Amino acid sequence: MPTQSVDQLKSCFRGDVIQPTDANYESARRVYNAMIDKRPRLIARCVDVADVMAAVNFGRENGLLTAIRCGGHSGAGLGTCDDGLVIDLSRMKGIRVNPAAKTVRVEAGCVWGDVDHATHAFGMATPCGFISSTGVAGLTLGGGIGYLTRRFGLTIDNLLAVDMVLADGRFVTANSEENPDLFWAVRGGGGNFGVVTSFEFQLHPVKMVHFGPTFWAIDAAADVLRAYKQFIGEAPEEISGFFAFLIVPPAPMFPEHLHLKKVCGVVWCCTGSADEVERTLKPMRTLGKPIFDHVGLAPFPAVQSLFDPLFAPGLQWYWRGDNFAELSEEAIDQHVEHGSQIPTMLSTMHLYPVNGAAQRVGKNDTAYSFRESLFTEVIVGVDPDPANSEKITTWCKKYWEALHPYSAGGGYVNFLMEEGQDRIRAAYRDNYDRLAGIKRKYDPTNFFRVNQNIRPAESAVI
Ligand SMILES: Cc1cc2nc3c(=O)[nH]c(=O)nc-3n(C[C@H](O)[C@H](O)[C@H](O)COP(=O)(O)OP(=O)(O)OC[C@H]3O[C@@H](n4cnc5c(N)ncnc54)[C@H](O)[C@@H]3O)c2cc1C
Repeated sequence: MPTQSVDQLKSCFRGDVIQPTDANYESARRVYNAMIDKRPRLIARCVDVADVMAAVNFGRENGLLTAIRCGGHSGAGLGTCDDGLVIDLSRMKGIRVNPAAKTVRVEAGCVWGDVDHATHAFGMATPCGFISSTGVAGLTLGGGIGYLTRRFGLTIDNLLAVDMVLADGRFVTANSEENPDLFWAVRGGGGNFGVVTSFEFQLHPVKMVHFGPTFWAIDAAADVLRAYKQFIGEAPEEISGFFAFLIVPPAPMFPEHLHLKKVCGVVWCCTGSADEVERTLKPMRTLGKPIFDHVGLAPFPAVQSLFDPLFAPGLQWYWRGDNFAELSEEAIDQHVEHGSQIPTMLSTMHLYPVNGAAQRVGKNDTAYSFRESLFTEVIVGVDPDPANSEKITTWCKKYWEALHPYSAGGGYVNFLMEEGQDRIRAAYRDNYDRLAGIKRKYDPTNFFRVNQNIRPAESAVI
């Protein structure tokens, strides 16, 4: 790449343009998953929309493979690339809460902890995920599943508008009135259509939540899964909790005799009144013989960031997932078999409930398709030691293969590794062709292809 053109970019750029010879290149190129070790040619760390426009134009004019990065949490490492350009938004951190309209405008470099911090001061929140260090952009554009999904829907169900820079460098806004096709596509279609520079979300009155886990011995897992699927299928929408197989971390909040024990459990997060939560959770919290049970009132941002220290950046990660409309006896048998073989302390399997409010949106109303699902499953192999990467990957793949025949047929794009075009199509089902048509309209050369890629349709299909 000619030095002259890099100098030209620098001359019109307010952020940092980082090259392999720069002292901060090593830290700037790293993403969350330490299994990913890519070396981009240039990292353009933008501070405003003008920087994003300059970076997009630079990437296109120089024929560079171009990745977009917000929180860097993509398991497949799709926030970076080898030998290309990374448009890094992590310095774009502006947030403005509008308390009267109950909305928040969020710049695309924020992680969810930034948003929680800003909105909690007003006693409000928007549905996000389960960890505060995940990027707002990547999580939202894939759908967004979290503690508040049953009550208020997916993150995209609370998205009101986006500002974007398209592949040709143009700035556009997309909402239900302006560019509605693009607005439909970005609600689940990932980073395929351009660089989102800011998001506007609906807020809800959420300040304190009833939070905590109930654990059972691993040999009770089949009974717990049976009871849990029934319970969460019918529970009021204020009640939520995900099922997990896990190894109890040696943390002071857990009694020592449980440290490093394989268990199954439900991590509750409920927004109702104390009485309602107490009464509704009782049948689950008294099911069989729980070995640990603690549900108490906590501020929502504290809940969101509770697992952050456990899952610090720089670990080895491999994950697989699917959607499930039901949990058959055969699926429960497979869960018990593979869930009890968790290979390392940080590895886990979560079943996230995605019914309730998320099901009130039709499967063709947004690009995200699996609206009839009861659960989204994610099987994650995690460990600090690279020597264990094969072990966690093999466990994950075997577990996924055993469960896949009982799934609804496709997964959640944010829980895909690089699994091939068929898996991407399966995630979007009959929305894929419409997405390919919109891709053709807004990014006909597939400039934005470092993602779960939707290829531009060969002819207009919209
Ligand atoms: C620890 C952990 C916890 C997680 N928890 C949840 C959870 O609770 N719920 C959930 O739904 N998902 C969860 N995920 C999955 C997560 O949603 C995806 O990995 C998501 O892609 C991460 O977004 P990011 O911005 O951090 O990632 P990045 O790696 O920065 O970006 C991922 C992709 O998003 C796109 N992208 C990023 N920024 C932009 C932008 N501004 N414009 C256009 N495209 C962009 C690009 O295609 C990029 O390849 C979790 C992941 C991890 C590692």
